[in-house]
Amino acid sequence: MARISIDLNSGTITKPQAVIGIDLGTTNSLIASINESDRLPYCITQDEASIVPSALYFDNQDIIVGHAAIAQMVNQPENTIYSVKRLMGKSYDDLQNLNHNLNYTIVDTEDQLVKVQIGGKQYSPIELSAHILRKLKTVAEDKLDNSVKKVVITVPAYFNDSQRQATRDAGKLAGMDVLRIINEPTAASLAYGIGLKGEEGKTVAVYDLGGGTFDISILYIQNGIFEVLATNGDTYLGGDDFDKAIMALWIEEHSLDNLSSSENQLLRLTAEEGKKHLSHHDNYTKTIALNGVEVNLSLNVEQLNDAIKPLIDKTIVSCKSAISDAEIEVNAIQEVILVGGSTRTSLVKNSVATYFSQAHINDELNPDEVVAMGAAIEADILAGNRKDMLLLDVTPLSLGIETLGGLMDVLIPRNNKIPTKLQKEYTTSVDGQVNLAVNVYQGEREMVADNRKLGEFVLSGIPAMPAGLPKVEMTFMLNADGILQVSAEEKRSGVKQEVQMKPQYGLSDMQIKQMLEASIVNAQEDMDRRGIAEATTEGEQLIYATHKFVKENEDLLNDENKLVINQLIEKIKDAISVKNKDSIVSTTEDLNSYSRQFAEKVMDKQISKALQGKKI
Ligand code: AMP
Repeated sequence: MARISIDLNSGTITKPQAVIGIDLGTTNSLIASINESDRLPYCITQDEASIVPSALYFDNQDIIVGHAAIAQMVNQPENTIYSVKRLMGKSYDDLQNLNHNLNYTIVDTEDQLVKVQIGGKQYSPIELSAHILRKLKTVAEDKLDNSVKKVVITVPAYFNDSQRQATRDAGKLAGMDVLRIINEPTAASLAYGIGLKGEEGKTVAVYDLGGGTFDISILYIQNGIFEVLATNGDTYLGGDDFDKAIMALWIEEHSLDNLSSSENQLLRLTAEEGKKHLSHHDNYTKTIALNGVEVNLSLNVEQLNDAIKPLIDKTIVSCKSAISDAEIEVNAIQEVILVGGSTRTSLVKNSVATYFSQAHINDELNPDEVVAMGAAIEADILAGNRKDMLLLDVTPLSLGIETLGGLMDVLIPRNNKIPTKLQKEYTTSVDGQVNLAVNVYQGEREMVADNRKLGEFVLSGIPAMPAGLPKVEMTFMLNADGILQVSAEEKRSGVKQEVQMKPQYGLSDMQIKQMLEASIVNAQEDMDRRGIAEATTEGEQLIYATHKFVKENEDLLNDENKLVINQLIEKIKDAISVKNKDSIVSTTEDLNSYSRQFAEKVMDKQISKALQGKKI
């Protein structure tokens, strides 16, 4: 049932905002939405095609996206930008090898991230992607006759945090509310209904062969949790290489040397047409004019298969590596999902089916559209339209930092709902401390050594102050994509440092379960160790403060006082060395009570000094 809301002021009926899923691809992008009547996903088409090329053409004032930009590729290569996805979240150094394969210029910038030079202006990949997304938004709004804001965008499973964040930022810049960034293989599984219900665990391989890239992802899906066990692939292998192999065949057969660039382009398009034709037929023939003569080009399935077999074999080698990285056997794969236009080629399908011989091959849906359709399903769930769907929005393990004594100090407890933001204040333990090391951990154990380290950074540049005076505010922000942003700010000076990490990355359900079990089994021992660590820290801090005090207030202490203090300090040290919590606590208390008298004397001294300075 569609929801309709009425604007009480104007009396007009407003449609609820549409939600969409976007497959933001390297070469092509797609948009999908959900049919209100049956809640099934469908791709939104523009001029009959569901694909919008992820290409941009920079006219003098305008930026043109999609098919119209592709049309300019041959004549205006320097003003036509493609493959922006390959630049997302990357630095100039990361892209040194790629630079030669692009016909536009990338530049190194101060903020470490790469930019694209077009005319006299520089654009970040985020801005360029935002232009593509804005175009997709417009296409969707035109078709749906409704405003579109809420969106789920897909990224490859191997994208790191900065690439995911860049994609999210591009969505925001395009004026959209990015509900979530999800993995492409996850979306493909959702499109086939895998992982939508609380079901038995399933091991799934998503084989994605597009125009220019190949990805294989091994997922373990249970109760709505999509866990990436392994990914592999080749960022420069796809259907375009099939086309090149066919071209090479024809060039040799017909001695087609010295083709002009437009003839080359024509031959490439003919090769692609032939390849597509052979996905459903046995033979292909076409006559085209090359080098001023008519050439009869022909291709049959056997020739095609011979030409592309080495390329397909490479993808199977990648599959083998992924299976081995996932630490499973190939026959553990229950479902294979085919994604990407090139999986329509018969030899690809057959080779995949042969390698994953035990699995069910899912190829009923349009392989170009499955990712966008899955993204639309996720968007529909997140928009709250599918109450029956499982949504796992809690952190499975606690997140915190290491504090003095190697203790785990939790900021976000396990089972906390995400997204979430929690803050806590800390201080320094040593006088004049200018750096504060922040070590971030995940887990339930009391000592960080037993937990999983996620990352570390140093908050540097804290102005030298006595211990305990700096106010360091630690903020943990865990977003819906599972990206943890940790920031530390010294409030008095404003010094700030921020890092991102991905707590669930590379962590399987099994490991989470083991970590939880270990915390229960070791609970008593852990509590004891925490008790000792806390008492030790307190004892050590008192020793440190006492040494300082003695040094600064020689005049208040006689030899006997100093002797007693030293003896009491030694007793604390002995207790710490044998790790006896009770005696650490009692010896610390002894030193505390003995030194209290001197502290009072100092107070008196300071008060009289303060009064001296005042003119009454
Ligand atoms: P994608 O990047 O997923 O859009 O995949 C595009 C690739 O799929 C291109 O290399 C196309 O030539 C290829 N492709 C599209 N349709 C077919 C088909 N019917 N048979 C074989 N390859 C196809």
